[in-house]
Amino acid sequence: MDFSVARRRMVEEQLRARGVSDERVLEAMSKVPRHLFVEPGLQSHAYSDASLPIGDKQTISQPYMVAAMSAALELRGKERILEIGTGSGYQSAVLSVLANRVYSIERISSLAGRARRILDQLRMSNVNIKVGDGTIGWRDQAPFDGILVAAGAPEVPTEYLQQLEVGGKLVLPVGDRQQQILLRLTRLEDGSFKREQLMGCRFVPLIGEQGWQAELTG
Ligand code: SAH
Repeated sequence: MDFSVARRRMVEEQLRARGVSDERVLEAMSKVPRHLFVEPGLQSHAYSDASLPIGDKQTISQPYMVAAMSAALELRGKERILEIGTGSGYQSAVLSVLANRVYSIERISSLAGRARRILDQLRMSNVNIKVGDGTIGWRDQAPFDGILVAAGAPEVPTEYLQQLEVGGKLVLPVGDRQQQILLRLTRLEDGSFKREQLMGCRFVPLIGEQGWQAELTG
């Protein structure tokens, strides 16, 4: 199977055709080898228009969602980004190409370890991964120019707003456990936030202090 051909088709048919127009995002997604981030048995589906299981009841997001969320951050290359929910590490890899530094938090240590190994193999050394509860952000490294949350929250965790730079953007799914709305909040100079609804979506739950309770999942 020629993965680079599948990847180019993914970019044209799933991303550009659906309105993703940020050329840096399209370029990043035509380069990052998504098949390395999925389970070996699912490699032939790596460039299909779907989320896929990565173990521990978690998923690698659909390519379109990764592209849309990355584009919503409007990155130019100098930014410091906080990502919540490293999962497979695929979204982190895309952000690694688009921004200057990526700080990513994952609550399941086996996933974090696996993501680290793949990112090391790709020499993506500008991604820092830590295991822990990402609902409280990463205070030592704040403020961030962008925060991307890859799991669905019941409401906007207030810590994220506090850890955002002026002009910085927070992109996150908010809703119930089954479905959410993808929101973008931009921090304005007067300290208030511009709030936009981008699209409907379905993510696994954000579990933690300012998210859902762990015992209710499954
Ligand atoms: N962006 C990932 C998709 C991750 S799925 C990818 O490209 O593969 C969402 C991830 O969020 C899961 O791995 C889940 O374990 C993690 N997660 C859920 N709640 C979390 C929390 N409070 N802190 C950190 N990670 C969390």
